[in-house]
Amino acid sequence: MIYADYHMHTPLCGHAIGSPEEYVKTAIQVGLKEMGFSDHAPMVHQRMPGITMDFHELPTYQQMIEDVKGRFSSQINIKVALEADFLPGYEAKTKEIISSYPYDYIIGSVHFIDNWAFDDPDPKVKEYWKIYNVNDVYRKYYALLRQSAKTGFFQIIGHPDLPKKFGARPTEDLTEEIKATAKVFKETGVAIEINTAGLRKPIGEMYPAFNCLKIYCEMGVPLTFGSDSHDPKDVGRDFDKAIDLAKSVGYTEHLVFKQRKVEKKVKL
Ligand code: ZN
Ligand code: FE
Ligand code: FE
Ligand code: ZN
Repeated sequence: MIYADYHMHTPLCGHAIGSPEEYVKTAIQVGLKEMGFSDHAPMVHQRMPGITMDFHELPTYQQMIEDVKGRFSSQINIKVALEADFLPGYEAKTKEIISSYPYDYIIGSVHFIDNWAFDDPDPKVKEYWKIYNVNDVYRKYYALLRQSAKTGFFQIIGHPDLPKKFGARPTEDLTEEIKATAKVFKETGVAIEINTAGLRKPIGEMYPAFNCLKIYCEMGVPLTFGSDSHDPKDVGRDFDKAIDLAKSVGYTEHLVFKQRKVEKKVKL
């Protein structure tokens, strides 16, 4: 088993089930030594009930996680984190949100391109996939990833090839885009995650794909692992496959964070 699962949610976001205690119990049961809650941070540009918690719920979130952290401290390390959206133009608000508490790490995720939630399964929102050129979506996505890394807000970049979620793959070779992105990640010191949730989505593979991950590894971009659980049963799920993928491209260790600093590196 991998040492830590760093990506999971709570019902505060409005689309996850199960209490933090249930997530903790699965984590202990599957043999994780550490786990990090990274629920969806309040949306920066508008309130989005059902997608993220609200700004006034940040203290509740903190209290919920501090509670399990205290009660289960002899069995597992628990970290408090956020998954925050990156939306250009809202940096000040993003900074305010992520500065609310001394979070152990912030996962920066791009779920929006031109205000379009491209990973939203709502049929009306998915319609936009027919309007956009798929290669443009990916190019814009990678440009946003680079921009997000440069803010310095994030320690980890979440699910770094998310546009493939519903199966849309680029039809052009975007290797240079990915290489440019890996370079910025290396320069800015962010890590990427292997996110196993993709296995449970139409694409049926982890984020990022082998070819992308290989480029990140070759560039020296560090790694974390996340199940992106929205249900306690998914904590640590498919981590055997994740470790195989990581090793297959050459990774030998992954990072553990504490108060936004690398606490240690753990061998795979
Ligand atoms: Zn979610
Ligand atoms: Fe996400
Ligand atoms: Fe998530
Ligand atoms: Zn996520």
